[in-house]
Amino acid sequence: MIGKADTLILFGATGDLAQRMLLPSLCALDADELLHPDLRIIGTARSAMEVQEFRNFARAAIEKHLPDHRRGGMADFLNRLSYQTLDVTKPEGYAELAEKVGADKQVAIFLSTAPSLFQPTIKGLASNGLADENSRICLEKPLGTDLESSCAINDAVASAFSEDRIFRIDHYLGKETVQNLIALRFANILFEPLWNAQHIEHVQITVAETVGLESRVSFYDDAGALRDMVQNHMLQLLALFAMEPPTDFNPTAVRDEKVKVLRSLRAIDAKETVTGQYRSGASGGEIVPGYDEELGKDSDTETFVAIKAHLDNWRWKGVPFYMRTGKRLHERVSEIVVHFRCIPHSIFPGAKVVPNKLVIGIQPEEDITLSLMTKVPGIEQDGMTLREVPLNIAMPDAFTGKHKRIAYERLLLDLVAGDQTLFVRRDEVEAQWNWVDGIRATWEKEGLTPKTYNAGSWGPSAAIALAERDGVTWHE
Ligand code: NAP
Repeated sequence: MIGKADTLILFGATGDLAQRMLLPSLCALDADELLHPDLRIIGTARSAMEVQEFRNFARAAIEKHLPDHRRGGMADFLNRLSYQTLDVTKPEGYAELAEKVGADKQVAIFLSTAPSLFQPTIKGLASNGLADENSRICLEKPLGTDLESSCAINDAVASAFSEDRIFRIDHYLGKETVQNLIALRFANILFEPLWNAQHIEHVQITVAETVGLESRVSFYDDAGALRDMVQNHMLQLLALFAMEPPTDFNPTAVRDEKVKVLRSLRAIDAKETVTGQYRSGASGGEIVPGYDEELGKDSDTETFVAIKAHLDNWRWKGVPFYMRTGKRLHERVSEIVVHFRCIPHSIFPGAKVVPNKLVIGIQPEEDITLSLMTKVPGIEQDGMTLREVPLNIAMPDAFTGKHKRIAYERLLLDLVAGDQTLFVRRDEVEAQWNWVDGIRATWEKEGLTPKTYNAGSWGPSAAIALAERDGVTWHE
């Protein structure tokens, strides 16, 4: 592990991500005294700003996006901030930035800018001594649009930074419940013996949004649900869920196991996927427009995708992983649902024994529910009456006094500390793209176009059929 950074440089410091997530996260970490006192933060973007203007800008962003009780005395945090005007495509400004950093500093560089700007930024950093063995770099998604473009980005970054200094963000890995999935599996004796094809019948992973296009019009229409959600967040969830026990909770051990899962994803047949695009409908109690109306033109981009995936390895042989994600769906929910197999033999004649189910809620609620069969209280003469009851661990209740954190807080802290465990390694990203490119090639070959679904529904009926063909019902 590389050491802790003295300076954090934030490229794209005036952008949406910086305002909504990065500056509030850093302020919250400061309020909780988790940033070391000497850490300085330099914001940079093209907009011309004096230091005080940037501090005012940051204050406004924090007041808008961070609850009052998490801000602490903001003055100390704001005093850490300075600013450098810089167009990354031009040579001017980098020397001044290097001067602000100073000599012999450990630097963490966060690129919250479009990936098309990564290459000129890296060139500018390298020519000004900011891409040496004292620097580490953090990259925001999207890392390419396919394997080829992803390799080009990775090659450009690798030309200046070794892999142990590259931190690729998947903000899902910063979520508390996603890390809790690792604790659940490897800090309990209960689950691991059951975590295999012998005991698990199938797994469902859902990442459902109620929002439509919002402000991401051109980006989203070029990407679609498969590349925006499945390629990164959902495959990371799948990898953490399905990986073998790592020998240790360290970057190499964890990522070695995840990449094995990603490489064991079976190539998908078009009939194992369903794509959809929303039409107008009722969402959140109001009528909302369809995707084509929001976009202002016709488009073949999928706003919904459902996939029946398989892992070709010993542990998961024959276990389908049903994944679905989409916009303008019925409810905002991200969860993993584990359906265990039926008991081998029932000793309760006439009673229906429902297989156990484990629901790992990621958002909006962070909770874990295990459904168990129990006896309904009472004296029966014709044998027991059984019923499924939930054993629920609601995280906020279990840990009172702990506040819900922004996923970026964990990741920014790890970036500054130099811990890559919750960041994605190059081989993982490339395995993810490899599988996703295969799906897109199949869609193209088969001429698959998205089916329509009403906003506020759970997606096209074909997605329900995809699961029901196997006797599976999506968890709702
Ligand atoms: P954004 O709002 O468009 O901000 C882009 C930032 O880059 C601004 O600070 C902009 O500032 C700066 N910039 C643009 N051109 C520049 C140049 N030539 N030289 C220096 N700075 C330049 O974008 P964003 O939403 O913050 O997203 C940033 C990155 O994160 C993107 O790759 C995006 O895909 C990714 N991302 C965003 C989100 C999100 O929720 N927003 C989520 C996941 C990933 P100036 O105009 O002042 O230069």
